[in-house]
Amino acid sequence: MIDLASPFLKALLKHSKNPIIIFKVKPILVVVEHNDAYQALIERAGGKLKFYDINIIPNLLSDAEKAVLIKTVQKVSELKAKDTLVIHPIYSNSPNVKWELEFSPVLQNDRPVEYIICSLREIPLDENDLEHILFELSESEARFRGFFEQAPLGMCVLKGPELITEYANDNILKLWDKSRKEVIGIPQAEARPELEKQQALVARVKDIFKNGQPLTINELKLSTPVSDGYFIAFYEPLKNDKNEVTRILVIIKDITEQVNFKKELLKAKDILKIAMDASEMGSWNIDLESKQVLLSERAQQIYELENDRLGIEEAKSLISVEYIGHLTSGIRRALHHRNAFNIEYQINLNGIGTKNKWLRTAGKAYYNEHGKAVYIAGAVLDITEHKQDEIRKNDFIGMVSHELKTPLTSLSAYVQLLQHKFKETDNDFTIQILDKVNVQLKRMSLMIDGFLNVSLLESGKILLNKTNFNLVDLIKTMAEENRIVLPSHFIQVIGSEEMIVNADMEKIGNVINNLIGNAAKYSKKNSLIAIKCEIKKGYVTVSVEDEGIGIRENDIPRLFDRFYRVESPDTKTIAGFGVGLYICAEVIERHKGKIWAESKFGEGSIFYFSLPTSNDQ
Ligand code: ADP
Repeated sequence: MIDLASPFLKALLKHSKNPIIIFKVKPILVVVEHNDAYQALIERAGGKLKFYDINIIPNLLSDAEKAVLIKTVQKVSELKAKDTLVIHPIYSNSPNVKWELEFSPVLQNDRPVEYIICSLREIPLDENDLEHILFELSESEARFRGFFEQAPLGMCVLKGPELITEYANDNILKLWDKSRKEVIGIPQAEARPELEKQQALVARVKDIFKNGQPLTINELKLSTPVSDGYFIAFYEPLKNDKNEVTRILVIIKDITEQVNFKKELLKAKDILKIAMDASEMGSWNIDLESKQVLLSERAQQIYELENDRLGIEEAKSLISVEYIGHLTSGIRRALHHRNAFNIEYQINLNGIGTKNKWLRTAGKAYYNEHGKAVYIAGAVLDITEHKQDEIRKNDFIGMVSHELKTPLTSLSAYVQLLQHKFKETDNDFTIQILDKVNVQLKRMSLMIDGFLNVSLLESGKILLNKTNFNLVDLIKTMAEENRIVLPSHFIQVIGSEEMIVNADMEKIGNVINNLIGNAAKYSKKNSLIAIKCEIKKGYVTVSVEDEGIGIRENDIPRLFDRFYRVESPDTKTIAGFGVGLYICAEVIERHKGKIWAESKFGEGSIFYFSLPTSNDQ
């Protein structure tokens, strides 16, 4: 019997720098003692020193090698003779090396061998070997390798044309859905039968041993049990001193996301092209560095150009003189605010006035990492026909309005004559009827004025006749006039007494009139209409507030569009054409002012407009 607790034995074990273990042979192979050097080795190899039996190294030995080890131990105990064994453990965190195990039976007279002492030596696989070099790496390099292990790349080293896996990091193992034990030291074809389907690729990889050339395979489609996607694979030959390729370093990166993104992008591009073709839309791109404009085929057709490239100045020369300012300032404004632009303009193709086309272009600028605009890209559409239709329609509206205006003016004159005549009689009934006829005639006249204004605005024929005047006086006059026509509402003017502006008095008067008219139209009888005047930072602001039906939030941005009317049961019965606010907005814009609305549905609305004070003109 040996005394395992003997201080002498313990000192001896501790003394040895080589890893040593003592096995008990029966009933099962159990490690009964080991020294610190052994513990350190196991930990370094990434194993766990947990159970004191053969399973002590389960994650470091393959089943086959475990069997060999058990056999050797049995042989040593039976023959009572020393034996050595070289095995190939699989380190989880460093390259593989060999272990040379030396077994010595502990002999006790004739008794069967009960204990075996095993000393262990770690030997690099091959002195010229990559593994050896890796094994010899200094600590810092090992740290680098650790980093590589954790990098989002799959990496392995394949040895010889048989492609024996010598090294594989966690990532590639995950990709292969294999454990280290299942691949290390085993040819790829054997370890990964799924490669059968990729013979062409395997052949190309094997060729590297002959041609010594690195190989890159992009968008390699792999379907493994764990992943189904695209990869980029680099195969790098590793050569020995004689310049022969002995191994291949394989690095694989998952690029599924990029490839899918690219596919989506191509699809989107395709759809865009179909849409652009269907709508006959062209595209263009201005390189702000080289000052070159690049046109798509359709854009070339629109501009009737033979080349798809032209200088900015040349492009500008195609634009009708009266629209250059409009176009360039629109683009400049968009660049400044970093938003998109959408502009209508006219081009003149054969010199002055011979061939004009109307175009609509929309686009935006793209910036570099320093925030500098590098190019502007957009789409262009030929809207000549549509524009001509619109012009014809406007001319028609203008003509009809004008023609209606003449009989209406005569009608008003006759009614006034009758009113005058009947005022001297006591025929109250007729006087009342004539008053009503007059109010309706005024309404009709206002509507026709509206249409006339739209057509004038559209054809650009509205001119401003600016003078300096006190806006508050104008507001008071308008309020007074409306109090007569709208006795149903209380109209109040609050705020500053004097606000001098430089503007077209008649047109601003129409705007105020319109806002008061709407306030009355869209509110109940006997409610209040408050007009406020304020001066702020070089602007005068006028607001017209009512206690009416209010406007829903999503309708507000469209109120100032031409022919826009809110559709609701409340507004259904109220007559109108949706041009009043459009004209107001156009007039205010032409004065470089602003117009906007705030509202609470069901509670009332406030319409504002602001104009620059006369000092700022
Ligand atoms: P119209 O009154 O002739 O329809 P406008 O251009 O003057 O045309 O107004 C456009 C729409 O805006 C109106 O149809 C109405 O729905 C809404 N609107 C204008 N003013 C008011 C207001 N004060 N209160 C509620 N809704 C209003």
